[in-house]
Formats: sequence, structure tokens, C-alpha cells
Amino acid sequence: MKRHYFDYNSTTPVAPEVLRAMLPYLDQSYGNASSIHTFGQQARSGVERARRQVAALLNAKPAEIVFTSGGTEADNLAILGAVYGSGKPAKHVITSTIEHPAVLNTCRYLESRGVAVTWLSGGSRGVVSVEDVRKALRPETVLISIMHANNELGTVQPIAGIARLARGSGIPFHTDGVQSAGKIATDVQQLGVDLFALSGHKIYGPQGVGALYIRKGTVLEPVLFGGSHERGRRPGTENVPGIVGLGEAAALAHRDLDSEGRRLSALRDRLQESVLARVESAVVNGDGVERTPNTTNIRFDHIEGEAMVIALDLKGVAVSSGAACSSGAVKPSHVLTAIGLSTGQAKSSIRFSLGKKTTDEDVDALLEAVPSVVAHLRKLSPAYAG
Ligand SMILES: *Cc1c(COP(=O)(O)O)cnc(C)c1O
Repeated sequence: MKRHYFDYNSTTPVAPEVLRAMLPYLDQSYGNASSIHTFGQQARSGVERARRQVAALLNAKPAEIVFTSGGTEADNLAILGAVYGSGKPAKHVITSTIEHPAVLNTCRYLESRGVAVTWLSGGSRGVVSVEDVRKALRPETVLISIMHANNELGTVQPIAGIARLARGSGIPFHTDGVQSAGKIATDVQQLGVDLFALSGHKIYGPQGVGALYIRKGTVLEPVLFGGSHERGRRPGTENVPGIVGLGEAAALAHRDLDSEGRRLSALRDRLQESVLARVESAVVNGDGVERTPNTTNIRFDHIEGEAMVIALDLKGVAVSSGAACSSGAVKPSHVLTAIGLSTGQAKSSIRFSLGKKTTDEDVDALLEAVPSVVAHLRKLSPAYAG
């Protein structure tokens, strides 16, 4: 059976160019990047090329890029590092309820340790308001952390507006850019952010590697302790093949940003419009606002999202319900309940995320499968009277 992947926001395949760039660093230039000999120098030069490539995607300086084990660690380093690094005796953080768990749970942890946290909502469309951030500012605010693009809805946050506020108040501003990198412009000068996290495996690089942009002058305490790697900001022997892969992925993302953005938004719009036309009472979550070109999140009332994921998978179509499975029970997506959906509505929502390999044929296969799966599941639902 031909399989059709619509879950690029969860992870992406490694691009062939990325794999090619990585291979020599596994079996030939395998030195420790801290070693002085030629093996070490080759590894070091791979790492530094990758640093320039990631910096170029963000319009940053190479010295402002720190490599990490992924998006989660980059978010943790940004948030914990900025809060611990702040000289203010009382500490307050502003974030939102639609953040990824990498930010959400880091801020919850800080809250449990006595840091005050303001949790802004994403309104009814999954967009945080600049005015809400302004109202939340306090003299003891030490960090603002608002994601660039939401992973479940694709909604893009008003980062430049929040950055102007942050800068005017002298407060460091972190954005989780894991879902925006490679999809929309991520020029940190235009955005005005001080900290920007990204992840390799969301941009056709390998899993287990990420990067944090740290604007020159931003005070950051390390959160891991060991050697003096990454200018003392992140210890541990560098994941050289992973970093080289991330660099190559960043270069490809930079090169293809506009063309892929246009191609994917056309495919996404066709998918979305055709689903709405073919399925009765289907609703787009987070509609009418700027979104990443590859994402749409659609609600199909009276079906269980989990059941739909499984039924579509049997037909070769991979999607995500955004729900988290914790201790055996399926919990609705915190993002969807945060924007005001009921538990039932959140559980009946499906995220479709497209990417490099998605073609018109994939969209056709999805459009073939979705209406019949929805009709079948609704027939089983006692609540559905249609
Ligand atoms: C995937 C993701 C992360 C975590 O990145 P990892 O590299 O998987 O740790 C953080 N934030 C967002 C928005 C994501 O989509």
C-alpha cells in the first residue's frame, strides 16, 4: 500500500542532501571537535560550517548560535538560563497557554520553585495579543517567552510587536521557533527577539539536535555543567554528524523557503477547501489568521480524533489528533482547549501537516479517505443526528 504522510509537524524525513553531508562525519572525519589533530580539526570545521549555515537562516552571527540536543533543550536553556541569569531578586515570566510542552512545563517548573508566571491565552484563534503582553509587564519581569508558530494550529504570533515591548522594557524575549524555522521568515533582526530555539528534525535534519540563537549581550546562565564546549554555554562533546546535518538542513530551508512556502500553501489550501466542501460541518480551528503554509487543523464534530487517526492509518494516511496519551487515557490537546474548544471538540480535531514530499497525489488520496472515514465514524456515534 502506498503511504501518505501528513504529519510533518511531528517530524520530517532526513533530506538526501542532509544524509550525504552527515555520512563522512560518522566514518571518516570522526574526530572529537575539541581535539587538536587533523581528525579533530575536520570535525571542528564541520561544526563551524553548520554554525554559519544556521546563523544564515536566522540572519544572526555564527557566534550567537549554540548547538543543543534538540528543540526541547534549546527552550530549556533559553528559559532557565535567562531566569537564573537575571539579577532581579523577585522574578516574573510571561508566557502563553498555547506553548509546546518544552516551554509550558519549563515555566510550570519555575512556578513550582517560586517564580511568578503570567499565562496569556491564545484568544479564540490561537494568537497571543501584544496588548495582553503589555498589560502583563511588571518591574520584576525577567523573561517573555512566546512561540513563533504554533505546532498544532500553525498560527503565527505577533513576535515583532512583542519584541518592541520587550526591548523598550529591557526584558529578554525568547521565542520557540521550532515550527517557524524553514516555513516562514525567521530573521531575528526583523523579529527583534533575543533568544530563538529551533530543532533539526522539524526541518529535514536528524532527530536529537537543535540550536539556540542567543543575541550578543543576552545574559544566560548555563543549565548543564561540564566542559567548556560552545563557549561555556552548553557542555558535552558535540554531536558532530547531527550538527552537520542540522547545518545542511538549515541551508536547504533557507534556499527553498519561498518556493516551498508557495507550493505547500497551495496544496494545504486545496486540502482544506476540499475537506470542507466534502464533509458536512467540518470547521477549521485557528482560521482567518496568519498560519504557517503547511498546516491546517480541522474539527469533525461527533468523531473521536484517535479513532480517525487509526482509521486513516489503515487506509495509508498518517495524520495527528494533537491529543496526548498519558497513563492510558487520551487527553485532549491543551492548545485546542486553551482556545476555547470543549473537550469533545478538541478530541474531534485532526491536524494535517504537509512537507517536502507531499504531492497532489497525496492530497487526492487524503481527500478520497477522509469523507468516508468521517461518515463511518459518525454512523457509530450516538450523538450524531446527521
Ligand atoms: C517539536 C517541537 C519542540 C521540541 O523539539 P525537539 O527537537 O523534538 O525536542 C519544541 N517546540 C515546538 C513548537 C515543537 O513543535
